[in-house]
Amino acid sequence: MKYIFGPVFSRRLGFSLGVDLVPHKVCSMDCLYCEVGPTTEKTAERAEYVPLDGVKRELSLFLSSSPEVDYITFSGYGEPTLFSRLGELVSWLKENYPNYRLALLTNASLLNRDDVINDVKGIDAVLPSLDAASQEVFEKVNRPVQGLTVDTVIEGIERLLKETGCRVWVETLFVKGINDSPQEIDRIGEVIHRLSPHKWQINTVARPPAYGVEGLSYEDLRQIAERVGYPATEIVARSKARKRKFPFSQLKEEVYRIVVRRPCPVEEIADALGVLTEEVEEAVESLKREGKVKEVIYGGEPYVKGLSG
Ligand code: SF4
Repeated sequence: MKYIFGPVFSRRLGFSLGVDLVPHKVCSMDCLYCEVGPTTEKTAERAEYVPLDGVKRELSLFLSSSPEVDYITFSGYGEPTLFSRLGELVSWLKENYPNYRLALLTNASLLNRDDVINDVKGIDAVLPSLDAASQEVFEKVNRPVQGLTVDTVIEGIERLLKETGCRVWVETLFVKGINDSPQEIDRIGEVIHRLSPHKWQINTVARPPAYGVEGLSYEDLRQIAERVGYPATEIVARSKARKRKFPFSQLKEEVYRIVVRRPCPVEEIADALGVLTEEVEEAVESLKREGKVKEVIYGGEPYVKGLSG
């Protein structure tokens, strides 16, 4: 498959089937913390960067077996709203696969455009980023394409909330020494209170970033949440990030020992073992390949179930 990947487990969306609508790495920003790597084509031009027909073909093939996933998510290698046929793809999915929920991860840079707002109207959950509220910090952390302002981003999120029925979960990713000053936190907080999104998710650098920056501790994020005091705040970063205490083979055994007794969500397993969620995901992937566990959905939540025998 060229344009779809996963399903992968994400803390924000559960099991999500990713759809890449731009090639590596086309984006209107070049964020310091980007997990995908440095932007090679920085642009705000919408275009059919990947063929719509090819994306549809892969989705039809994958969805033909009615797999259980929590979301089909437009994300991937860059900024998905740069894909000029996004609206057509959303309509096609809604018409042909109405049981699947759609999600969009976006840097919100194009959301103040009429065509983009119209394109995203059918999406169930939109997760826009807002990492700064002042132009100076915005330029430092997100390194936007020339001419793009933080006000455009904020206006875009505002339009999303006012003009669409999408659930809006704004994410702010804090980078040590860049957007975590008390002044910037207060400015971001003011914007969040004013916009009033369904959720404000705060996060920090957790995977290798494009440029050498560092994340905050869980405690720092907790203090930010307290300082801002927005009721629907969720700290996405893990709370029990510790180094693995045992080798991978033993970790797999421990994971298996837990889930063969009762199905468990990945996060619960990580908490029980005091290891990173990512490590459990890796162990689960390996156990899946060996046919020892499978994923099941219960009450809309993904669980890992051990297969005995
Ligand atoms: S907007 Fe997203 S894809 Fe683009 S550089 Fe920033 S983190 Fe990476």
